[in-house]
Amino acid sequence: MNIILFGPPGSGKGTQAVNICENLSIPHLSTGDMLREAVASGSDIGKKAKEIMEDGGLVSDEIVLSIVKERIAFKDCSNGFVLDGFPRTINQATGLDSLLDVSQKIEYVLRIKVDEEDILKRLIERGRSDDNPVTIKNRFKTYNSQTQPLIPFYENRKILFTINGMQEIEKVFEDIKKVIGL
Ligand code: ADP
Repeated sequence: MNIILFGPPGSGKGTQAVNICENLSIPHLSTGDMLREAVASGSDIGKKAKEIMEDGGLVSDEIVLSIVKERIAFKDCSNGFVLDGFPRTINQATGLDSLLDVSQKIEYVLRIKVDEEDILKRLIERGRSDDNPVTIKNRFKTYNSQTQPLIPFYENRKILFTINGMQEIEKVFEDIKKVIGL
């Protein structure tokens, strides 16, 4: 099963991705994690990504598509995968389409819906290095302008499912399981 987890920063995508992946024994592909690894390793990609991430902006589609392309070609993705934090722009979504072959169709785009004020609190409590108020504000801005347009994009394909993210972690997961038939 190929799944996209979609939602604003701090919506709990990462947590739910782990739950789904454990349940289905498929890999968790988080572009945020991949980029943080690149930054930590000091690679060329990491050097380019570091400041942008600290600013709350988006790393270029070209870079992100190249790391996803490489990762998705691994054998462990042949039985499915969960994409977390990707695609984040229409360009990434169309880029993803061309990376996938016919047998790798995205079946579910799970949109975790939350309200911004509550998330702000959540993110500040989480305390990752990009979880300071200025960066968080920018990440929301970026989300609203660049990532939100993916909602109608996937709605048109009839694969978008909205999950109420303002519930206990377990309850959110229950709702996800209902949608994907687990
Ligand atoms: P969150 O969604 O909670 O903000 P992520 O771990 O998904 O956190 O992403 C952290 C940062 O990594 C983003 O703010 C962005 O700078 C960068 N990033 C992650 N995924 C992408 C992507 N698909 N395209 C561009 N930049 C990305």
